[in-house]
Amino acid sequence: MGTFYVENFGCRATQADGAAIECQFHKRGLERAAAPEQANVVVFNTCTVTAAADQDARAAIRRIHRKNPGCQIVVTGCYAQRAPEEIAALPGVSQVIGNSHKPRLAEIALPLSEPRAAKAALDFATFAAPALAAEGKNFLPLSSLMPEGRVLTSDARGQVFVSDIFAHTILLAAPVFDAANERTRPNLKVQDGCDNRCSFCVIPYVRGNSRSLPLDQVLREVNALVDGGYREVVISGINLGRWGRDLPCGAEASACAEPVSARLKSYPDTQLRGESCVLPGFVSGHGFSHAGKVAASKPALPAGITDASRRCRFEDLVRSILDYTALEKLRISSVEPMDWSDELIRLVADSPRVAKHAHVPMQSGSDRVLRLMHRKYRPWHYREKIEEIRAAMPTAAIGADVMAGFPGETDPDFEETRRMVEELPFTYLHVFTYSARPGTPAAAMRNQVPVHIARERNRILRDLAAEKKVAFMQSFIGNPLEAITLNVVHSGPAAAATEAITINTPPSPCHSERREEPTDFAEQQGVSQGRDSAFTEALTDNYLKLRLKGRHAPNRWLTAQVEQVEGGALVGVVS
Ligand code: SF4
Repeated sequence: MGTFYVENFGCRATQADGAAIECQFHKRGLERAAAPEQANVVVFNTCTVTAAADQDARAAIRRIHRKNPGCQIVVTGCYAQRAPEEIAALPGVSQVIGNSHKPRLAEIALPLSEPRAAKAALDFATFAAPALAAEGKNFLPLSSLMPEGRVLTSDARGQVFVSDIFAHTILLAAPVFDAANERTRPNLKVQDGCDNRCSFCVIPYVRGNSRSLPLDQVLREVNALVDGGYREVVISGINLGRWGRDLPCGAEASACAEPVSARLKSYPDTQLRGESCVLPGFVSGHGFSHAGKVAASKPALPAGITDASRRCRFEDLVRSILDYTALEKLRISSVEPMDWSDELIRLVADSPRVAKHAHVPMQSGSDRVLRLMHRKYRPWHYREKIEEIRAAMPTAAIGADVMAGFPGETDPDFEETRRMVEELPFTYLHVFTYSARPGTPAAAMRNQVPVHIARERNRILRDLAAEKKVAFMQSFIGNPLEAITLNVVHSGPAAAATEAITINTPPSPCHSERREEPTDFAEQQGVSQGRDSAFTEALTDNYLKLRLKGRHAPNRWLTAQVEQVEGGALVGVVS
């Protein structure tokens, strides 16, 4: 049996794409290799957000070509979409498959690794073009779009499959089961692409316009994860707050606007059997198995949700997940400041089932720089929004992306950013140094900030963020916090050893598997909390790393008493 390995770079959306690609290979009967050195097909799922990201991808491709010269190297992702010929020219690269062709990656890639199909693969036109064209007129290989001789020349050794990303509306989605030994908080991408055109950002050009996973599919995915035993799901997207703007909200959403129990009453011939039931009125057969778990009372319909002319909104999605799934904890990843509506803030603040966590990209505290960036809000809007979130959720994690060294950023501009970071109640920051992306308006701007100045500004912001984070953590000493246990146990400070607990079979990336957990984990491990110096990693509802004394089963929500802050984490005991 053939083997594959997918190496992901970059953001959670790329990881979600990677999970969907793994799914494609599984469906075609290939097994995931333990390491790229052992795989027949190695897929590099790249990022292009900075020049360093491009460089990382090139270095990884070169490394694997050296270590596993016989493997088929396939390069996909944002870098592949942006600069396919640059990658195709790298030694060892068999195929470059842009985001435009990613939904059929395995189909395109596999003939090269299957001897009986090798001949067909030599002539891509006879193999892939008809199938791809069936997806839509624009779904064609670059080789058919480019002037003759421009691709597949001696310079570009790999085959290139890239076309206009704006012609594509497919959204790849598969839950991501995070770091190898954590695997308790799957990430579900529900939105891709972006309609904004921030002047520094290449993402719209490599991921296309905003598109959303329909509500019924999101609910089905979340319910499948809940059935699989998962207790926290993170929903993510490139511009998550824009979820639904491409979807009509009328008929489909109103079909979802009653709780499952209410719909069963309306359709007495519908029965819950085994794992799922199909509820009349849903578009494509939606498995629900939570009739006993969802609230029996009818929730208030989101305002205007029955108005067929209205577009769906992100708030509808959050409310529907709460109303129509039995998920214990929903975590929302990054949402732009203008999408944190009063209604969304209230929804997050009022439900114990939504993690108290707001990630709100800021980028700069200078009005002048925000305008140059083509950001859609002014610093005072941003400030108001963060203050509103803090007032509604006094213990929430509040994080931001901040960019240092945008072209033309002066010392006074930077000082405005620094002061905003200092004054606002952030609990963590992601600080990026500006990196010019070819083709973006910012790359052509004059007054590029020297890199040593940009890096120094980055350092100042990081130091400030670190101080704020410690102060936030210390404010919980002596207090209880809710946390979910992860799949990592440290055997004790002296040994500094880390074990991944093996009682849970890692889930298949294509579908979740029920987790069988022992009722008394400590007993099963032959230790008791008091005697053992081990501690278990956990993540609090408000996004802080917590080390729990003793060994605890993974994937459990529990309440911990915080005792101290040590090594960048809270230390606590189960209360
Ligand atoms: S909002 Fe701006 S920075 Fe974010 S993905 Fe869209 S264009 Fe890029």
